[in-house]
Amino acid sequence: MAKTKKKDKAGKKAKIRCHLCSGLCCRYFALPIETPEDADDYDDIRWYLSHTQTQVFVEDGDWYLNVLNPCIYLGPDNRCLNYEKRPKICRTYKTDDCELTSGDYGYELHFTSDKQMEEYMKIKFGPKVFERYDAKKRTKAKPRSKRKTR
Ligand code: SF4
Ligand code: SF4
Repeated sequence: MAKTKKKDKAGKKAKIRCHLCSGLCCRYFALPIETPEDADDYDDIRWYLSHTQTQVFVEDGDWYLNVLNPCIYLGPDNRCLNYEKRPKICRTYKTDDCELTSGDYGYELHFTSDKQMEEYMKIKFGPKVFERYDAKKRTKAKPRSKRKTR
């Protein structure tokens, strides 16, 4: 991956171990999402998690959608096939606290499936949390049932 050595805070050359790594940092991207406030918000996140290769985590109070898709430029030898034109985010990424070197990220919350979110919502909002959607459906359905027929 990174071909140039980066300096640590003390100004010394930081030890780069990309040649020992399977390109972990090129195998996903994480985007910040709005902090969920109510059951509907959490249910939206449950929907994200219903898709393959997605996770959601919370770090320092911020929520992120994690998409576990490798970059198209990650070569079979785990090196970048687009090194000269790689995006800024890749150029500025620091190995000091990357996936390989920092170990446990210590997420406050980490959801890897919709089922996990389902259980979390039941604990947070009560075991009947999903009944509200059925109730909503019934409420919406009402006017239709009252429609006059010719
Ligand atoms: S995860 Fe760290 S060691 Fe692995 S390629 Fe990325 S920057 Fe290099
Ligand atoms: S462009 Fe290269 S460095 Fe950036 S994520 Fe893709 S493979 Fe990794």
